[in-house]
Amino acid sequence: MKLRAGLLCAFLTALLLPFSSQGAWFGKQAAIMGTRIGVEVWHEDEQAANQAIESVLDEFRRLDQALSPYIETSELYLVNDRAAYQPVPISKEFYDLLETSQTYSQLTGGAFDITFASAGHQYDYRKEIKPTDEALDQTRPLINYRHLILNPDSQSVHFKQSGVRIDLGGIAKGYAVDRGIHLLEQRGIENALISAGGDSRMLGDHQGRPWYIGVQAPRDDKALAAVLPLSDTAISTSGDYERYFEADGVRYHHILSPKTGRSAEGLRSVTIIGPNATRTDALSTSVFVLGLKDGLALINRQKDVEAVIIDSQGQMHASQGLEDFKQSETTEVQPAHLGPVNTNPIRPEGSALGVRPAGAVFVPSKAE
Ligand code: ADP
Ligand code: MG
Repeated sequence: MKLRAGLLCAFLTALLLPFSSQGAWFGKQAAIMGTRIGVEVWHEDEQAANQAIESVLDEFRRLDQALSPYIETSELYLVNDRAAYQPVPISKEFYDLLETSQTYSQLTGGAFDITFASAGHQYDYRKEIKPTDEALDQTRPLINYRHLILNPDSQSVHFKQSGVRIDLGGIAKGYAVDRGIHLLEQRGIENALISAGGDSRMLGDHQGRPWYIGVQAPRDDKALAAVLPLSDTAISTSGDYERYFEADGVRYHHILSPKTGRSAEGLRSVTIIGPNATRTDALSTSVFVLGLKDGLALINRQKDVEAVIIDSQGQMHASQGLEDFKQSETTEVQPAHLGPVNTNPIRPEGSALGVRPAGAVFVPSKAE
């Protein structure tokens, strides 16, 4: 706890220190969408900065209300409740998100599949509940993105089978981060960072230098496996250590293989760097399911994304575009160049045990 408080102090101090007479960093954190949301902006005016930050947090709250599978008035809840019986007309935003999700299902050969929830909603990681083998046998055929029928004319969604459930947990936070960045841009802000658990996006750089983003070591919450100097980009990490429990020597975590309805095996974490957080979020979940070989191949086929993958032995692998970087730039990180320190884990109200933010960790010293 002492360490955490210390880090928080460093964080706040850093936020208040102006680096020139023309502006300062302003920041705030809040627990929304079952995770910690952090917003930092560079601004000349404190009041305007705070208004901008609040607008981002409000956007996260709005999206939580619309997309949560647990809030009975959410659009997603309504769809899960009714779409097996009739086509359900939905908002344009929700429709577009479903369509985007389907695109990732096609791109990843079904590794990304929002109908994972047909089985996923039978797990409760906090209460250490998992479906029985029989229940899974019955549920497995319900996991298939092709069960979703999207009709652009009526802007509606229909499930081909009853029992199908959807959940946007693999893409919604990334989408919310992108929405937040958009709102900041609209206000003329040029330097900012928004993070939502494992999904972050930077607008511009950090005082003329890159932001240094640490990739969490999957089995040591105080260590970093890598440090990435980044500007104007998004980064997402999916890990098997964020939401899980162990039983009979098996780690039951929150990323499911749509083929089995069970936790995907073979990797500990996947970090994706790319142009926006919707894309990095969906792809980090996807690559985690695909595994090392197929996952790296997918990323190497995409021009605009890179990956850092940590396998179940703790070995680190990088996509082609990061090979050179791995040898050069990480060694140049100097403490004086670092952004705020922000490594303390949180347990927001109502979140599962074992939840920790992955990805955006600012490091106090150079990479291991
Ligand atoms: P988080 O940042 O919440 O840890 P990740 O990006 O790592 O999220 O994705 C994990 C979440 O994605 C799960 O909590 C679940 O909601 C959802 N999910 C799990 N398996 C899949 C899958 N195969 N396809 C799409 N979404 C998934
Ligand atoms: Mg994801």
